[in-house]
Amino acid sequence: MPKPKVEKAESEWRAQLSPQRYEVLREKGTERAFTGEFWDHHDAGTYLCAGCREPLFGSDAKFDSGCGWPSFTVPLEGKPGEAVAEHEDRSYGMRRVEVTCARCGGHLGHVFPDGPGPTGLRYCINSLSLEFEKGEKGAGGGSGGEQR
Ligand SMILES: [Zn+2]
Repeated sequence: MPKPKVEKAESEWRAQLSPQRYEVLREKGTERAFTGEFWDHHDAGTYLCAGCREPLFGSDAKFDSGCGWPSFTVPLEGKPGEAVAEHEDRSYGMRRVEVTCARCGGHLGHVFPDGPGPTGLRYCINSLSLEFEKGEKGAGGGSGGEQR
């Protein structure tokens, strides 16, 4: 069953989020490469949306892409569109696919078709869009059922 969406006025987001997080999540900003909290972070656990705390990515889907942002091969629930939503983004004269949190619409980053198998995808995500919750495993294997 789909979870209820989180919808807030921009003024509420502004009050809730730090200015840095607000700029990325609500204004589609991008943190500078190699400056974020998680690009070189290797603990086991779950990455949550910094806007609404929806679990988005598991640490077992994280890989070292060398691009300076946390990179994942697949969203947590294994099916694009459940944890994250994807939209075509033609800004800056490029054609990219923007990734947002499916629940609150916060901007996360972009997905590129140059990742490792089996998905061949690289979800390139801003650390500022994420929070980390330590856990035994990333729960990204698709078996599910342990979250509640
Ligand atoms: Zn969210």
